[in-house]
Amino acid sequence: MRYGLSCKKCGKQMAFKIRETKCSCGGTLLVEYDLEEAGWTLTKENLKERDTAMWRYRELLPIHKKENIISLGEGWTPLVRLHRAERTLPLQKLWVKREEQNPTGSFKSRGFSAAVSIAKEHNIQKVTVNSNGNAGSALAAYAGHAGMEAFIFLPQDCPGIIVEECKHYGAHTFLVDGLIHDAGKIIVDGEKEQGWYNVGTLKEPGRVEGKKTMGLELAEQLNWKFPDVIIYPTGGGSGIIGMWNAFQQLKQLGFIHGDFPRMVSIQEKGCQPIVNALESKEAFKPRTHGVRSSPTGMRVPSPPDGDLIVSILRQSGGTAIAVTKDEIQQGKAALGSYGISSSPEGAATWAGLIHLIDQGWIRPTDEVVLFNTSHALKYLPWNQHHLPVIRDYQEWVKLT
Ligand SMILES: *Cc1c(COP(=O)(O)O)cnc(C)c1O
Ligand SMILES: [Zn+2]
Repeated sequence: MRYGLSCKKCGKQMAFKIRETKCSCGGTLLVEYDLEEAGWTLTKENLKERDTAMWRYRELLPIHKKENIISLGEGWTPLVRLHRAERTLPLQKLWVKREEQNPTGSFKSRGFSAAVSIAKEHNIQKVTVNSNGNAGSALAAYAGHAGMEAFIFLPQDCPGIIVEECKHYGAHTFLVDGLIHDAGKIIVDGEKEQGWYNVGTLKEPGRVEGKKTMGLELAEQLNWKFPDVIIYPTGGGSGIIGMWNAFQQLKQLGFIHGDFPRMVSIQEKGCQPIVNALESKEAFKPRTHGVRSSPTGMRVPSPPDGDLIVSILRQSGGTAIAVTKDEIQQGKAALGSYGISSSPEGAATWAGLIHLIDQGWIRPTDEVVLFNTSHALKYLPWNQHHLPVIRDYQEWVKLT
């Protein structure tokens, strides 16, 4: 077998199963590859000949048959250097990874290309996700391309253009009175009865594996070097988990040496579970009441494995900070002035960068990468949809 599962907490290994993501010890199961076998065909030389898309790393993605790959051209996004910003900050090397250029306008395209491909390989017909928006529209697009039926549950204050986007791709789209975890509860209550395949964060293997390609790609674009610092807007955490996994795999493959990047999670004040957990030094405790932050991908009060995210930040020598709405606004203007259209999440990484430079945590000699995870236009005001708002699974059943 080319790949199996391995527990990030106790190290237990087992055969690959699509719905198995939690070990009996409570730890998260991630896909583990036979890297020796992967290395027979995945070489730095061979990569030069391959498509500039995420599936160039197919040996490190859990798909057996090429014909099951559902691709809309995701990945291999530009890494753009902000020379003019470097002079004013001061910083020697500042890059922006332009994830907003993915097919669905956010890096969620990567995770859903992988997840929907895996679903296809296992003959799944109906897929569902709870989302703050971009996961929903990504699932809608990839399910559409694959010919699957998609059911999407979004908080009622989800940015309207993203709701429209989900409908545009033909998904059954529902607004929920509550936050992302309330939407998730509807799915859990209905998945057996409805035969849904849950593509929520860490509910299946594909989303982390797809996001892992951001780490592989970043290292390759920097000519097989790690940057010093990666600043990433964090919600459910699959990006941090995936990229960290990518860096381990690249080292084990012998593609890259040297220190791992310091990973920084950015959240918005008013919903900052990762920041709190990192500061408290206690085990991760989700808190779902009193959430006051804006409806963005960072608003995840109860990520499925907060301890794993925190342990990665610690191991990497990284940190986490919460920034204000105003700082996010300023970040958007700053990135905009350098020609980058940034979503609130992308803008938050700029706000975090400024804090960390002011604190001296980022030094002028550090090479820094900001992840611009989506673009500004998806978050413009829009209020034309007329969807009913549901509270729970019973209401959903009545509605449909
Ligand atoms: C989902 C999302 C995030 C959070 O990413 P995770 O990997 O789930 O932590 C950040 N930015 C945008 C635009 C998103 O859609
Ligand atoms: Zn375990």
